[in-house]
Amino acid sequence: MGGDRQGSSTWAILVAAGSGERLGADRPKAFVALGDRVLLAESLERLDASAWIDAVVVAVPTDWVEAAIVLAEELVASKVAAVVPGGTTRAESVRAALTEIPDDALVVIVHDAARPLVDDAVIERVLGPLAEGYDGVVPGLPLADTVKRVERGLVAETVDRSALVTVQTPQAFTATALRAAYRDVGTADATDCASLVEARGGRIRVVDGDVRLLKITTTADLALIESWLEEPLPQ
Ligand code: C5P
Repeated sequence: MGGDRQGSSTWAILVAAGSGERLGADRPKAFVALGDRVLLAESLERLDASAWIDAVVVAVPTDWVEAAIVLAEELVASKVAAVVPGGTTRAESVRAALTEIPDDALVVIVHDAARPLVDDAVIERVLGPLAEGYDGVVPGLPLADTVKRVERGLVAETVDRSALVTVQTPQAFTATALRAAYRDVGTADATDCASLVEARGGRIRVVDGDVRLLKITTTADLALIESWLEEPLPQ
């Protein structure tokens, strides 16, 4: 693996420690097949190749640490500084990975391995506003469907969707803001890192997301992303 990374300023955390039960596979989601290799290979290779990223920490299920190290070696992913056992929740996996990031890191990008098609364009979009003083930046997509708030099976309200976005990863943070959030805020209900930074009063900017950053949850999602790999969407 990558050796001494002291002095690297932009770190990526790749969280891949989920079980992926809804895929119904006999292995964790990050290690199911996507095309002719494992799902984790796609995002790991892409983050490693990004000129914006200096070093990568990967969180995988405890029994899969060795497999992830072998994968990183096979991919010659030389920016991988550490592979750590993840936790029981996504946030706990991020917390475990954060312990491997040195004090002098300036920026931390957190990405879900379940979104394999991360690219430099979105990485550049989430990094830009950090220089303008934001604590974090997330990619978001407008909602296509009508949204209703439901109470005990009854519609309580039709929500104005014009102000709503669904949020993806990669999410970028100043290392200071992300560390403080993980120190000060309970992570039990967190489904992303930005919510923890928000809970501490951090300012989070939203930039354009990308439909290709779809998170793989079902076998249908896997098939769709495989089709995009074979036939990339027009830019
Ligand atoms: O479960 P879900 O697909 O929402 O998880 C989003 C990302 O967080 C996935 O890449 C998954 O591997 C990761 N995760 C993790 N540790 C957990 C749960 C999820 O690293 N305990």
